[in-house]
Amino acid sequence: MKTYFPFYAMFISLKSIFAVTFCMILCLKAGHTQSFQAAVVKVDITPDDSQVLLGYNPRKSTGIHDRIYHRIVLLDDGKTSFYLVSSDIGEFSPTEYDLMAAKLKDQFGINRDQFWWSVTHTHSAPEVGPPGLPAAFLGDRYEHQYDTAYTDFVYRRLIDGIREVQTRLSPARLGVGWGHSQANINRRARDIDDKTFLGLNPDGPVDRRIGILKITGRDDDKLVALIANYPIHGTVMGGESTLISGDARCGCRLCGARDRSTFGVYQRSCR
Ligand SMILES: [Zn+2]
Repeated sequence: MKTYFPFYAMFISLKSIFAVTFCMILCLKAGHTQSFQAAVVKVDITPDDSQVLLGYNPRKSTGIHDRIYHRIVLLDDGKTSFYLVSSDIGEFSPTEYDLMAAKLKDQFGINRDQFWWSVTHTHSAPEVGPPGLPAAFLGDRYEHQYDTAYTDFVYRRLIDGIREVQTRLSPARLGVGWGHSQANINRRARDIDDKTFLGLNPDGPVDRRIGILKITGRDDDKLVALIANYPIHGTVMGGESTLISGDARCGCRLCGARDRSTFGVYQRSCR
């Protein structure tokens, strides 16, 4: 069976998010500590019907392994608010990003630079929106029509989440740290003839650091959110699976907390 391994990257790197957040931390040190607030919302986007899954060949879902979500963090230092969204979907076209940014501007007055939308790049979530550029070089992969009803649902749920997170702001603190994990692996394997193929290369270079932003309540020090930056490809379930899943992210201890107040946001990777 012909297998596709999409390699296009059309998402915002959480490394950039870290850079901005570090700037926010510096602002806190400059005297805005007392007014810093944060909020978190986790919105379920699991479909209730069978959907064509993105990643590998098009295949229809037959069940749910674990539910998928929009995870939304709102940071507000009293002068500027910033919405970080991480969605359990494979990818979306830049045109869809533009569409959502325009909706948020229209409905909430949120400027484009206050809203960063990333995905976990799970290969076990439904397609969302038109394929965009990938259709140009993977044309036969996208001969079917995408499901407009599910796409509208995903967008509607994101707007619901933005509306809800605005009501949940409370005084907070930010912490930063670095960890290490052996969860990922270089996928540029070499055969006996020294030819490269898509596989496992334990000797290949790989970034195994985990950058962590920790948000806690200012007064009770209770954990609000952990935001993680870690390069890992959402292909644990594999191309034979037809179950909806957040894939690698949901198998991680960092995301083990199931309650709505704690969640991880992961950098997606398709390398
Ligand atoms: Zn991928």
